[in-house]
Formats: sequence, C-alpha cells, structure tokens
Amino acid sequence: MTDIRKVIVIGGGPAGFTAALYAARANLDPLVIEGFQWGGQLMITSDVENYPGYPDGVLGPQMMQEFRTQAGRFGAEFLTDDVTRVDFSSRPFRVWVGDDEHAAESVIVATGATARQLGLESERKLQGRGVTYCAVCDAAFYRGKEVLVVGGGDSAMEEAIFTAKFADKVTVVHRRNDFRASQIMVDRARQHEQIEFLTPYVVEEVVGEEKMTAVRLRNIETGEHQDVTADGLFVAIGHDPTTALFLDWLDHDESGYLVTRPGSTETNIPGVFAAGDVQDHVYRQAVTAAGSGCMAALDAERFLAAEEGHLATALTAPRPEAEH
Ligand code: NAP
Repeated sequence: MTDIRKVIVIGGGPAGFTAALYAARANLDPLVIEGFQWGGQLMITSDVENYPGYPDGVLGPQMMQEFRTQAGRFGAEFLTDDVTRVDFSSRPFRVWVGDDEHAAESVIVATGATARQLGLESERKLQGRGVTYCAVCDAAFYRGKEVLVVGGGDSAMEEAIFTAKFADKVTVVHRRNDFRASQIMVDRARQHEQIEFLTPYVVEEVVGEEKMTAVRLRNIETGEHQDVTADGLFVAIGHDPTTALFLDWLDHDESGYLVTRPGSTETNIPGVFAAGDVQDHVYRQAVTAAGSGCMAALDAERFLAAEEGHLATALTAPRPEAEH
C-alpha cells in the first residue's frame, strides 16, 4: 500500500505553488505533482509588472521558479510529471502518474487553464516578443504602438478596448463578419476612435525574427493576403481549463471550469479543493490564482483538523458507562 499523504497538490502554477507553500508551513507535507511543464501560463510571458512585491517587474519563468523554491524551502516535495488518472470515489483519494499510485486525505486541484493559441510555428517563436495572450498583463508595454487583437468574443472586445488606452492603434482581426461577443461590447469597440476592424481575416503568420514586426493575414472570402505592420499581437480566442481528468468527479460548468462553493475552494467532494484558473474564468491573474491557492491550503488544513478533532474527541470522550 502506498503512503497516504495529508495533501496532494495537482498543478505547478501560482495557485499550486502557493497552496504548497501554505500546506508545507502548516506541516501537511504536501506532494506537489506539478506537471511535466510546470509553471503554467507565466512560462510564456516575459515581464510581469503587476505582481505586488516586484517593483521593477520580473520575468514570468523566474517568478515561477521563485514560487517553487519558496514552497520547497518549507518541505513541499515535487514530482515533475503529469497526473494521468484520479479516483475521488472514496478516501484516501487516489492519484496516478502512469502506473505509480499516490494517495492522500485531501487533494488540491490547481491545474490552471491554457490560453487558446492560433497554432502557428511563428506564433510560438515570438511568444513574449510581440505575441501575447493577456492584455491586462501586457497592454502597457505597447504605449504609443500599433497592435492587433485576434478574436470575435467578449474577451477580444474587452482586450481591444483596454489595449487602446495605451496603443495608438488597435486592429481587431476576426475570422467572421459576425461576432460572438455581446452587441454592447462590439458597439463599444466599434465606436472607439483608435480601434479598427478587419473581417473576415485569419492570421497566417507572425512576421519577425527577434521581435514581431508584422502579421500576415488572409481574407477567407477572397483569399487575398495582406501584411499589417504591428508591434504586438494579442491573441484573445478563449481559454480552456485543464480539467479533463476531473470532469467525471467534480462539478463543472459547460466550459469545463470546476465549480467551487462561493467564497471557498470546496468542490462537491469534501476534501477535494480547487484553486486558480481551473475554477476562475473571470480574473485569471497570477495574484488571484495565488490568493485562491492560499485559500485552498487553509481550507484543506481546516478540513483535516476538523476530522482530527472529531477523532480526538472520539478518543478522549468519556465512555458512556463513566458518565453520571
Ligand atoms: P469565446 O466567447 O469562446 O470567443 C472566442 C473567439 O475567438 C470567437 O469569436 C472565435 O471565433 C474566435 N476563435 C476561436 N478559435 C480561433 C482561431 N483558431 N482563430 C481565430 N479565431 C478563433 O471566448 P472569450 O471571448 O474568451 O469569452 C469566454 C467567455 O467569457 C464568454 O462567455 C464571454 O461572454 C465571457 N467574457 C465576458 C466578458 C464580459 O462580459 N466583460 C469579458 C470576457 C469574456 P468564432 O466566433 O468564429 O468561433
């Protein structure tokens, strides 16, 4: 029989590492199954300027390394691999990495979400060097510049409007003439004097060597190509939560995001908690993910303590025959 941990944290981004830090400092000896490519979305960003405590900004990968080191300092143990299966039907909960089984009294799911990518090799090459997936994080780097936003949903409209606070010109590129975004958001973007629209176009290539310099577009009705000079490409075509392993066990919404009890990280299974972007499609920030990772560790600690309390109470309670 495998050792039974108090806590297993699944996921190695801001939420998972913060949960691990708090759990380790609470002597819960967490095992963090952090994923083969730990670090989460911050690994494909460059400067992070909106995380409190880094007044000069910090590189995303460096920040994640520091989160990890800090959790390790208090005894969190890391397994750099991907979870392949879970069984939350009874306790201890069971978590597999290939054929290796791990068991724990509580589990914190912090597997995050991934920004959808266009899937171009040139996009991947220029990530963090013009290509970005988060306007809130990166728009301020484009003050006085020209950028493109790809997508036709509410995120794309919101990112275009936000980015226009900084950039001189924002062009929304969408593959259809109709928009999935709510009409009010489309109207707001259309009325903005710095925002233009190009439809129905798809991005064929991001052009640039060290930094992106232009984007090659194709009109999907006429086939005509157009190169648009731009300093930045904000890809806003949606996010996918990393929840495939959990959908059979945990309540989730129609997009696959895990559902937690409001104001808590509790899922529908007592002892299983969810933190970070895996249960948050609204804020999606490193600082909010870290905050909910902290909440999950505290929730797990209280859950385990309450059970131990019941056990202790049961062991120390006077026997019925001793009562008068
Ligand atoms: P979304 O609604 O799924 O929209 C994604 C957009 O990206 C769609 O227009 C889609 O085009 C396009 N797209 C997808 N894959 C593409 C590809 N490979 N190449 C080019 N375009 C592609 O995602 P979202 O905008 O992130 O919104 C997610 C949810 O959050 C929605 O429910 C939204 O209402 C909500 N949200 C609300 C607000 C707000 O109310 N302020 C803000 C942001 C998000 P097609 O339309 O052609 O499929």
